[in-house]
Amino acid sequence: MVRQQIEARGVSDPAVLEAMRKVPRHIFVSEALRDQAYGDFPLPIGEQQTISQPYIVAEMTQALQLSREDRVLEIGTGSGYQAAVLARIAYRVYTIERIRALYLQVRRLFDELRLFNVVTRYGDGSKGWEEESPFDAIIITAGTPKIPVVLVNQLSVGGRLVAPVGNPHSQDLIKLVKEKTGVRQSNLGGCRFVKLVGEHGWPEP
Ligand code: SAH
Repeated sequence: MVRQQIEARGVSDPAVLEAMRKVPRHIFVSEALRDQAYGDFPLPIGEQQTISQPYIVAEMTQALQLSREDRVLEIGTGSGYQAAVLARIAYRVYTIERIRALYLQVRRLFDELRLFNVVTRYGDGSKGWEEESPFDAIIITAGTPKIPVVLVNQLSVGGRLVAPVGNPHSQDLIKLVKEKTGVRQSNLGGCRFVKLVGEHGWPEP
């Protein structure tokens, strides 16, 4: 998976490649899908949500430019896979999920995996996590019409944010870097995520 799907497409950060090699993706999908867990595609995780394609996880993680000391906020815990990858690289990961069944399932899984540097929360992540801010990096793993300003406010100076921005059917991966004098933005290319639903995302279906 790492060699053919991730390195071959240009992800080169050694810490990201190492994390992608170490985190067993099959643990994050249902037993019926385990034989497909290392394929080059997203997979359903129940509740009409998906675990992202491995390459997208690697690309977004690399874009966050993480170091060992960094505190990272993830919005959209889903299966917990992306959080587990981040947790191998950063100091601590804070992750928020709005669907209770997924939140509870991931909590159990993280306990089993003894992933003690991941803090989980049930709620609307489009509002961020004010009490724990500022964060060195923020990753939104659901498609949003725009990047919520509250999240940019919860980023430290020098902090990086990556999010799929667009309409419900297609988005661009947008990276922001918060600088003293403003925010620098770049477009990393097209992608397709499930919807960010909440106060600063899409309205409840
Ligand atoms: N990072 C996940 C991808 C999950 S898909 C993984 O590695 O598996 C996106 C997830 O975002 C879904 O589980 C969805 O329920 C969640 N989500 C959508 N809107 C949200 C919100 N406002 N706050 C928190 N989670 C949200």
